[in-house]
Amino acid sequence: MYDNDNIFAKIIKGQIPCKKVYEDDDVLFFEDINPASKIHVLGVPKVKCVDFSDFVNNNNKDIVDNFFKKINVVIEKLGIKDSGYRIISNSGSDGGQEVPHFHVHILGGEKMGSKIK
Ligand code: 5GP
Repeated sequence: MYDNDNIFAKIIKGQIPCKKVYEDDDVLFFEDINPASKIHVLGVPKVKCVDFSDFVNNNNKDIVDNFFKKINVVIEKLGIKDSGYRIISNSGSDGGQEVPHFHVHILGGEKMGSKIK
């Protein structure tokens, strides 16, 4: 069940400010408030979706395709396409998801550790 009052829903609606990196009618990318690396950007589709599976299973392929292509646009805009980056999406309790609106983390700007846990 989607929580209309989750933090990212409020950010999408403009009720909570954020440092925007890229926005259009369908997606929003903004800086993480507590960055884990020099560059740490969060990306959300604007449709209501709790996690990765909810997003992929319950939206048409244009919406899904567009979101993943926009991640690539943002990677280029951030200037980290050639230096490298890490994309993470946490889902559910075991995945450590804190905010129940599907999102990806884009991390870069420095060398990532070899472990992801
Ligand atoms: P999760 O653990 O759900 O994958 O990641 C949630 C992320 O949202 C965390 O990295 C956290 O720092 C970030 N975050 C939580 N609240 C806010 C907020 O109000 N603004 C921004 N920009 N990021 C937030």
